[in-house]
Amino acid sequence: MSKSIVILGATGSIGEQALDVARKGGYTVLGLAAGSNIDKLEAAAREFSVQAVALFDENKAAVLKARLADTDIKVYGGEEGVCRVAGIKADITLNSIVGIAGLRPTFAAIEAGNDIALANKETLVTAGDLVNKAMKERGLKLLPVDSEHSAIFQSLQGSPEKSLTKIILTASGGPFYGKTAAELEKVTVADALKHPNWSMGAKITIDSATLMNKGLEVIEAVHLFGLSADDIEVLVHRQSILHSAVEFSDGAVIGQLGTPDMRLPIQYAFTYPDRGELCCERLSLADVGTMTFARPDTKTFRCLQLCIDAIKAGGLKPAAVNGANEEAVALFLAGKIKFLDIPRLVELAFNAQPEVKDFTLEDVFEADRRARALVRAEVDN
Ligand code: NAD
Ligand code: MG
Repeated sequence: MSKSIVILGATGSIGEQALDVARKGGYTVLGLAAGSNIDKLEAAAREFSVQAVALFDENKAAVLKARLADTDIKVYGGEEGVCRVAGIKADITLNSIVGIAGLRPTFAAIEAGNDIALANKETLVTAGDLVNKAMKERGLKLLPVDSEHSAIFQSLQGSPEKSLTKIILTASGGPFYGKTAAELEKVTVADALKHPNWSMGAKITIDSATLMNKGLEVIEAVHLFGLSADDIEVLVHRQSILHSAVEFSDGAVIGQLGTPDMRLPIQYAFTYPDRGELCCERLSLADVGTMTFARPDTKTFRCLQLCIDAIKAGGLKPAAVNGANEEAVALFLAGKIKFLDIPRLVELAFNAQPEVKDFTLEDVFEADRRARALVRAEVDN
């Protein structure tokens, strides 16, 4: 029997690739949600004859509802609507919404008792402890989709998790690898959007240029695999072929290699523990020829270090740096701040966030709001 899935963020880079995997793999797609793209969501809803769709933008949801009036497909709007679709009972909910906007829908999927294929790393960055606890209580599986975390997850299969001693988290280095702070002063939005190896949504592409993405991934790895940040080594690997690796207690290092194509980690999350058919270009190591590894420059690319400091401090620091970054990236994309303002604003929010031990989901949203407000106030001044 084919698995049933719900796809959140269905019109985005990951969402569209997930639809491709679902199409080829014959999956039953029960629900789709997105932010505001009516055309793409309508087309996918009709193609997969889904039960329900939702758009975060309420006005656009009303337009979509009129357009789908000739079908039985239910149409919802707003965050509540997105959570309704996230909560449709299915084998797997894929969350590929961008940003903390994915957090409440993650909890809606948990409430429904669905396993979660997670691309939305901000879910774990901001509220990893709460998510892990809620999933554990219900006995649900969290299947990583982020390529590095999928690689780690794949590398762990067949070995006892207690023998894991270290994670090697690879990074492409982004478009500005090797640049000095003086050179980074002058980079433009167009420069930052030119990722060397991956085609992705705008926010994560900027995060890759600042190395914030790798910082978020360190936090994500801490929550997924239970190691401390000190046991996660980030290495710049320009070819993006070794997607990440693990080291075991006996010194053995096992990694997953492949061409840079997100359809493989998406498909593995759907087929786990089985493996599907070839979905991307086959890897030829002879064509790759050389693989290189180097330590990242955390002094020039401050965001990576700030994330490491945030997860070590714990509490709401990760939510604060994430919120400040989301706001700063939006301002950078809108041409309102410079590239190096991003780490500066993230650091400001890091310092402003008090250390706390226990917190609730609403505290996470509050820390996010405070960090965003701080960034906006700083830019308006
Ligand atoms: P994207 O910008 O291409 O797509 C984002 C999707 O989220 C769109 O469908 C958009 O409509 C939807 N969305 C935005 N706000 C929403 C809201 N409030 N409610 C419901 N839907 C909303 O982004 P992407 O590159 O596909 O990335 C999605 C997530 O996956 C991010 O967390 C990113 O870090 C992660 N990720 C992406 C890649 C990649 O290759 N693109 C790789 C690893 C991880
Ligand atoms: Mg990644």
